Amino acid sequence: MGTRENPHVLVVGGGPSGSTAAALLARSGVEVTVLERDTFPRYHIGESLLASCLSTLQVSGAYEKVAAHGFQIKRGGYFQWQNDTWLLDWSKLVDAEAWSWQVDRAVFDDLLLRNASDQGAKVIERAKVTDIVFDGERPIAAEWVAAGDDTVRTIEFDFLVDATGRDGLLAKHFGMRRQHPAFRNVAVWSYWKGASLHPDSPEGAINVVSTEEGGWFWNIPLSDGRNSVGYVVPTRLAAEKLRGHDSRQSFYLDSIQASKRMLDMLEGAERISDVQAEQDYSYVADRFCGPGYALVGDAACFLDPLLSTGVHLATYSGLVSAAAITTMLRGEMSETDALAYYEYTYRRGYTRFLSLVSRMYEHYIGSDEYFAHAHRLTDVHDGDSPEQSFTRIMAGLTDVGETTGEQDRTGTDVIVAEAERLHTAPDTEGVNVKYMGGLDMSPVWDHWRDPLSDTDMGEIRITTEPVFGLTTRPRTDAERDAVTRPVLPPHDGAAAAL
Ligand SMILES: Cc1cc2nc3c(=O)[nH]c(=O)nc-3n(C[C@H](O)[C@H](O)[C@H](O)COP(=O)(O)OP(=O)(O)OC[C@H]3O[C@@H](n4cnc5c(N)ncnc54)[C@H](O)[C@@H]3O)c2cc1C
Repeated sequence: MGTRENPHVLVVGGGPSGSTAAALLARSGVEVTVLERDTFPRYHIGESLLASCLSTLQVSGAYEKVAAHGFQIKRGGYFQWQNDTWLLDWSKLVDAEAWSWQVDRAVFDDLLLRNASDQGAKVIERAKVTDIVFDGERPIAAEWVAAGDDTVRTIEFDFLVDATGRDGLLAKHFGMRRQHPAFRNVAVWSYWKGASLHPDSPEGAINVVSTEEGGWFWNIPLSDGRNSVGYVVPTRLAAEKLRGHDSRQSFYLDSIQASKRMLDMLEGAERISDVQAEQDYSYVADRFCGPGYALVGDAACFLDPLLSTGVHLATYSGLVSAAAITTMLRGEMSETDALAYYEYTYRRGYTRFLSLVSRMYEHYIGSDEYFAHAHRLTDVHDGDSPEQSFTRIMAGLTDVGETTGEQDRTGTDVIVAEAERLHTAPDTEGVNVKYMGGLDMSPVWDHWRDPLSDTDMGEIRITTEPVFGLTTRPRTDAERDAVTRPVLPPHDGAAAAL
């Protein structure tokens, strides 16, 4: 640990995960610097937000600024998935408070980064981190260059938050990022004027339309009259199809032509931008944290966009990591315990979504099974149907409920079993269960298994009063008797209380 009187946290990357963590840490009185490679506003794909983002923005101080911008209100999703139609209306299936926005990410991300600065973080744009300096296992400084200047500068810190998104600064440094073979997908997308949603859609809903060949479209309405329309398809299939096309644009347009449902929505609409593409974007890191560092948002993991989980997981991990870091910096919890909470909580949320999304991809098993599965992955609200459990998870509200203590963390056994199934299933030819086939993932799950139920720390939740951070309720004797031995991340030797 450094010897400075005020500990300094460096956040690398100013997307939604980095700016949320930075804003929350700065609001808590921590000295924070954000180094961001680009100049904001900058383009980013990923416009559809979950309802959970609202509460995180309220805690980070960004809510009023985002609300004032007037983004398109979103009240759920309309899915034409295989032979089924699901109308996931958050107002009806959750409550009237469950809503969100469809956002132009350039504007949204810029508002969040400015908010981090308003809350007291020092934000430096056009600043690319090129290397991290370690003292043993612990990162202690970063080397960075300003755009247009080759001078290498060094910045020291006491704790590092890696929010570099797909670039994955630390995951690549440690060689610990694993691709999800089953989600080897390509996304191609463009923007349209004059497109419509299915008439039964809830207000501003994302429309998701599957195709017979195993792909799916998104149709997201934005506030300026544009719609983001994308097509996701297995990479293998895309490669075959692209051979018959002279460009990805003609592949994209032909795919739309082959979908009657999409043609209906795009009737009379005009495409107003080039076709863009990304591929093979689903992965997970072996560790989400270690001595002196945490990986947040896409830097830790990314899940296929079928349930629009990216910005939720980014802001959620920003929130949970900031709560853990500020609590340990105040000396109220050891670094090992605080990071164990972070690792567990973020991986739990991510894995629950992974489990739902992978079932939807596996083969057609019907909405009843998807909804019933969701019911097993969560503490069921009084009187909720399986469809309501699915909707609550898919609105991001289950994750938030668990961290605030409004919902019990039930379903752990099912989540762990699913994680193991998805990560160790045999490499079965032609079946969509290859995931991590053949790789030994046991070290990951060993330190992921609920560290909290195994320790004397008791029940931990995130609170904002009297101060933002983690609050512990000590276990009763009976609870302590019921728990098993501690299983914490393997950093105990190197991690010191701050
Ligand atoms: C096809 C597709 C569709 C998607 N659709 C949705 C959707 O509808 N809804 C949704 O919620 N999510 C969606 N996502 C995902 C979502 O966009 C991401 O999950 C989200 O942007 C993650 O936020 P982040 O802050 O972790 O990373 P990012 O937003 O990627 O931010 C990372 C930042 O780090 C900076 N950076 C990188 N390296 C360095 C460095 N060395 N030094 C300094 N700075 C650095 C980058 O410039 C960048 O600004 C989609 C993704 C894809 C691929």
